Amino acid sequence: GVSVEAAPAAARERHAELAELIEDANWRYYVLDSPTVSDAEYDTWMREIRVLEEEHPDLRTPDSPTQKVGAPISTEFAPVAHLQRMESLDNAFDDEELAGWEARARRLIEADPGPYLCELKIDGLAVALVYEKGRLIRGATRGDGRTGDDITPNVRTLRDVPDRLVGDDVPDLVEVRGEVFLPVEGFKRLNEQLMDAGRPPFANPRNSAAGSLRQKDPRVTAQRPLRLIVHGVGKWEGAEPPKSQSEMYERLASWGLPVSDRFRIVETLDEVREYIGYYNGHRHDPEYEIDGVVVKVNRIAVQRQLGSTSRAPRWAVAFKYPPEEVTTKLLDIQVGV
Ligand code: NAD
Repeated sequence: GVSVEAAPAAARERHAELAELIEDANWRYYVLDSPTVSDAEYDTWMREIRVLEEEHPDLRTPDSPTQKVGAPISTEFAPVAHLQRMESLDNAFDDEELAGWEARARRLIEADPGPYLCELKIDGLAVALVYEKGRLIRGATRGDGRTGDDITPNVRTLRDVPDRLVGDDVPDLVEVRGEVFLPVEGFKRLNEQLMDAGRPPFANPRNSAAGSLRQKDPRVTAQRPLRLIVHGVGKWEGAEPPKSQSEMYERLASWGLPVSDRFRIVETLDEVREYIGYYNGHRHDPEYEIDGVVVKVNRIAVQRQLGSTSRAPRWAVAFKYPPEEVTTKLLDIQVGV
C-alpha cells in the first residue's frame, strides 16, 4: 500500500489541541445546549483541523472530529437507534468551494448533476419523526447520527407535528427529518421571561430551540413556541418513493407536514448563486434565523449515485454566510444580564 509519512510533532500537537477544543465545544453545544464560543470561531477550528489532516493524512483517524457527526448523546434521555443514519452537511464558505462541490459531483457521475433544489439553512436542531401506518410513534434528536435522544413526548407537544399523516400514498413506515426552531420573536420573548425569572438566557435561537425541546418535562416544551420545517426522509417502506427532492416535499406537504415555501428549483450553478445572493441580502426576511443556504441535487437517482462520505451526503452542500457578528451574540447576552 501507500506509505503515509508520520506528521511532525508540532502538527500532531496542534491537531490534538484542536480536537480537544472541538470536542469540548461539541459537548457544550449539543449536550448542554449552552455554547461558549461562536459558530464562526468553531468553524475556523474545524477548517484548521481539516487543513492539518489534508497535509498529514495519518492524523485523520476515525475518532477525529472531522469524521464524526454531532456529539455523544446525553444520559438524560433514552437512546434511540435511527432507522437510517442521520448525516451532517459539508460546508462551502465561498464561491470557489461551491464550484468545487459541483465539479466533484460532475466528475463522479460524468454528467451534469443539476437541476438543484435551493433552500434555506435553518439554524435549529435536527429531528427524526417516525410514522408507522401514518401514526407518529417516535421523535428523536440526531445525536451522533446513529443514536439520538428519545424526545417523543416533547415533539408531540409541537402543533406543527401531526399525530397522523393523511393520504393514499403514505408509506407503511417513514422517517421524516426536519429542523425544529424558535422564531426570532419567540426567542427574544423567551429570553426576556427567563431573565425576569432570574434565570440564564439562551445564547441564540438555535440553542433556545435545542434547550426547549430537550426538556425532561414535556409541559415545559409545550409552553415554548417551537416550530418545525421538514427537509428530508430517511427510512421509507411500503409506498412508491419520490423521484425528486421537490416531489418529496410535495408529498410530505400533502400529508400535513410543514414544508418551507422558500425553496427553489434551478437548472444551473449560476442560478444557485443568484439564490444565495438574494438571501444574503434578505437574511432576516424569514421568521427564523438562517446561517446559509442548502443546495441539493434534485433527482433522487442522482443523489443515490453520488452517495455519502462518512459524515455527509455528496449530493448536498451547505453554503454558509459570513457571520454578521462574531462573538457579539454571546457578548450581547452577557451585557444584557
Ligand atoms: P451543520 O449545522 O453545518 O449542517 C447540518 C445540519 O443542517 C443538518 O443536520 C440539518 O439539521 C441542518 N439543516 C438546516 N436546514 C436544512 C435544510 N434545509 N436541509 C438539510 N439540512 C438542514 O452541521 P452540524 O453537524 O449540525 O453542526 C456543525 C455546526 O454547528 C458548526 O458549523 C457550527 O456552526 C455549529 N456548532 C457550534 C458549536 C459552538 O460551540 N459554537 C459547537 C458545535 C457545532
